[in-house]
Amino acid sequence: MNSQLSTLNSQLRLTFLGTGTSQGVPMIGCDCAVCRSPDPRDQRLRSSIYVETPECAWVVDTGTDFRTQALRENIRRLDAVVFTHSHTDHIMGFDDLRRYSHDLGSIPVYASAETMRDLARVYEFAFNGLNRFPGYLIPVPHIVDGPFQLGGTTITPLPVPHGKSTVNGYLFTRGERKLVAYLSDCSAVPDPIAAKIGEVEVLIIDALRHKPHPTHLSVAQALEVAAKVRPGQTLFTHICHELSQSSETELPANVGIAYDGLKLSL
Ligand SMILES: [Zn+2]
Ligand SMILES: [Zn+2]
Ligand SMILES: [Zn+2]
Repeated sequence: MNSQLSTLNSQLRLTFLGTGTSQGVPMIGCDCAVCRSPDPRDQRLRSSIYVETPECAWVVDTGTDFRTQALRENIRRLDAVVFTHSHTDHIMGFDDLRRYSHDLGSIPVYASAETMRDLARVYEFAFNGLNRFPGYLIPVPHIVDGPFQLGGTTITPLPVPHGKSTVNGYLFTRGERKLVAYLSDCSAVPDPIAAKIGEVEVLIIDALRHKPHPTHLSVAQALEVAAKVRPGQTLFTHICHELSQSSETELPANVGIAYDGLKLSL
């Protein structure tokens, strides 16, 4: 076991690898105030989190910026990867898992049946193994259709609508503690899901911008979900260039806007 992780004082450490929407912030060719903001927290790579526990570490999603994020955070250990859904901003860094797969011999991949089907189609060369270069990525698929364990953490899928599709958020529980609910892409949070994550310590939730959007929650909608869930703390993610980090001051006291590189120790 990595000595750094075995001496981890917290039950779970979470790093925001990216907090941006599918186009990232700044957006290509945009001169708006947020895209030109001098606040480095307004620069957002595609949404993903890295989670470390005393037993193991994983990422949720490997988006387009995964390589950049892994280098920035110096990620040396990765025991598994968990996917929310197969939109390009969440899967296009998959190929860079080869570094970790090479160290482990293979890498466990957790995703819904639908997302796994898409991954196996897009990355057929990795999944079918017919012409695999020695040391190349060997994904080991695990279909998520209910709660599963990674070390001492129970990971419960939270199916939520994302426009017309359904994607998985995830709840991370250790012992009696509901530590984190991660809902990066959703247009609604049905009541049974809100009840399941009730009073979670940290709610990380999609809040694209103030204006409503067909596939993402707005700030007002995300605040409504938070009012139902009553988490200890709420952090917004999957932010677009219409929401500045500085607008955080207008939010309730226990609600914030996450930014790339932000770390939580729980
Ligand atoms: Zn997304
Ligand atoms: Zn802009
Ligand atoms: Zn999406």
